[in-house]
Amino acid sequence: MKLIRRPSPHFNARKAPIDMIVIHAMEHPDIDEACACLDGYRVSAHFLIARDGSVVRCVDEDKRAWHAGVSSWRGVSEDLNSHSIGIEFLCDSFSRKRRVNFTKKQVAVGVRLCRRLMRDYGIPAVNIVRHSDIAPERKSDPGRYFPWRMFLGSLTR
Ligand SMILES: [Zn+2]
Repeated sequence: MKLIRRPSPHFNARKAPIDMIVIHAMEHPDIDEACACLDGYRVSAHFLIARDGSVVRCVDEDKRAWHAGVSSWRGVSEDLNSHSIGIEFLCDSFSRKRRVNFTKKQVAVGVRLCRRLMRDYGIPAVNIVRHSDIAPERKSDPGRYFPWRMFLGSLTR
């Protein structure tokens, strides 16, 4: 797994133990553009996964990244950023059909990363969620073209 370090200034201390992973997508296939976009909005994620399978580490896992926003999941509606690790999949588009919205390599790397995080932090599969699952009124990523069922299935096999 090719790991690139691109530290984000947008993080602070966690106020809860890690027990969730939030999957996002953003319509910037280029790593530099994606980082600039996140910085511009003063948000962050722990990892970005590029279309070639490169993994970009932006915030250390023990720190609180800023990606979930107003959101709730299974009775927790406060500070999901403190509970979670955020992973952004970079793509051309997650809302419109492309020949390839997310590459197989990228999804496979995402599965490996999530399996490692689940093991390291004891995260249950039920707490692996899409941004659209925890903020359905506001967010639609990673969208209908992300192979969610296959992704989740690969994590629990
Ligand atoms: Zn998102």
